Amino acid sequence: MLPKNVSIVRMTDAIAALRQKLGAAAVLYGDEISVRYEVDYSGENRCPPLAVVRPASTDEVAAALAVCNAYGQHVVVQGGMTGLAGGSTPRDGEIALSLERMTGIEDIDTAALTLSALAGTPLEVVQNAARDAGLLFPLDMGARGSCTIGGNIATNAGGNEVIRFGVARNLVLGLEAVLADGTVVSSMNKMLKNNSGYDLKQLFVGTEGTLGVITRAVLRLFPALPSRCTALCGVASFAAALELLNTMQSRLGSSLSAYEVMWAAYFDYVLEVTGLRSPLEARFPLYVLIETEGFEQAADQAQFDDALGDALESDIIADAAIAQSDKDAQHFWEIRDGIGEITPRMYPVIVFDVSVPLDRMEAFVSDVDSALATAYPGITNLVFGHVADNNLHLAVTTGREGDMATICEIVYARVGAHHGAIAAEHGIGTLRLPYLHYSRTPAEISLMRRLKKALDPRGILNAGRVFDASP
Ligand SMILES: Cc1cc2nc3c(=O)[nH]c(=O)nc-3n(C[C@H](O)[C@H](O)[C@H](O)COP(=O)(O)OP(=O)(O)OC[C@H]3O[C@@H](n4cnc5c(N)ncnc54)[C@H](O)[C@@H]3O)c2cc1C
Repeated sequence: MLPKNVSIVRMTDAIAALRQKLGAAAVLYGDEISVRYEVDYSGENRCPPLAVVRPASTDEVAAALAVCNAYGQHVVVQGGMTGLAGGSTPRDGEIALSLERMTGIEDIDTAALTLSALAGTPLEVVQNAARDAGLLFPLDMGARGSCTIGGNIATNAGGNEVIRFGVARNLVLGLEAVLADGTVVSSMNKMLKNNSGYDLKQLFVGTEGTLGVITRAVLRLFPALPSRCTALCGVASFAAALELLNTMQSRLGSSLSAYEVMWAAYFDYVLEVTGLRSPLEARFPLYVLIETEGFEQAADQAQFDDALGDALESDIIADAAIAQSDKDAQHFWEIRDGIGEITPRMYPVIVFDVSVPLDRMEAFVSDVDSALATAYPGITNLVFGHVADNNLHLAVTTGREGDMATICEIVYARVGAHHGAIAAEHGIGTLRLPYLHYSRTPAEISLMRRLKKALDPRGILNAGRVFDASP
């Protein structure tokens, strides 16, 4: 009993010290805390934080963390709360540190093609600022209106244009972060080349807030790409889908911006639930959505049509519908993005976000299908994904909540067996932590623990995310 009482007294002291340091308005407590701080988009394990600290500057983040570190007070970092891994959901006894007051574009350099922003800035605000300057910030995802640049970097987010521009990591030139003890590390590099010592920003990219709180970032911009060509193709086999990818890469080069594959069961279910019609007359084992982006519509379209025409003639694709308008392209994307519409119908459902090497992908899908069907005859497993990025999503349900843990074991064990990653773009958070060993060796996890210990010796920051810090 004693340790519990002691910890309650210390937590109250920590909140009082935070209010004294930052002012009461920056530290929400009791009834002032709304439910939006209780759970991320996964909806799992809802838990109210002890208090919510809302710093307005890097100095205030540093002051808040110094206080929490002194009291041994655990802190969960919160961006837009659109994460799907439970990472920003408070655990019992944690204070939430929200970046919601740290928003704004600080600087756009149209010659160097860089943009600096505060970490709490929503992704869409960054995209719009780049567009207004006649440029492009290519990171994009469905959560763009709510997710923040800090959250995108902390999760090393992927999204729709990874094949062309890479993941969030590839779009960050520099950043500023605050360590658990309040030390500010400013690495706001704006240059493409900088090999002067360790690239410290990488400590904070994709580490899900376990090593520091990102407060600002320098992002890469690109010339705007006004032309777009889109097609939906039917293919007879996974081997054909891979051959098509190869053909499109060699014919269209870096203009290829999306290569999305949908297995027939996913495609059919989306059509059934949404009422969308298939742009192709026949039914195929797999469907591929291909998109390119470029500078000159007529020339790009001619190249795109030629490449697809040749693929059709050499039987790599069985049929193709080429978008003739933005409306057609939107229709094709609505089918691909139908996951948002179908999951409420499938509830309770798990949507897996895994990576698998391309040469193992077909075998992985077939192994998972047969293992799931053996364990649960009649189970639904709908597969689709950013195949060119190695990234597959599987929406799986038996209709029973109680089967979920076994389903996770079945899927993640096969990800491990095929040398894949249990998290492709959504991160580990708390929800995938028990399965990390399927993708990372004991030596790798031990090194993660050593880094955590070095940067956050009292273990106050995002404890219990990614891995269990205690050996
Ligand atoms: C409709 C929808 C579509 C999505 N599509 C995609 C997609 O295509 N690709 C993809 O990758 N993800 C996708 N996601 C998941 C999610 O949007 C991303 O993970 C996003 O990057 C999270 O940003 P956030 O600001 O909401 O972070 P949060 O959910 O608030 O936090 C996520 C993690 O980052 C940490 N964190 C947040 N801010 C900071 C900071 N400033 N410093 C340190 N740590 C921090 C948190 O502690 C937590 O561990 C989607 C989500 C939704 C709801």
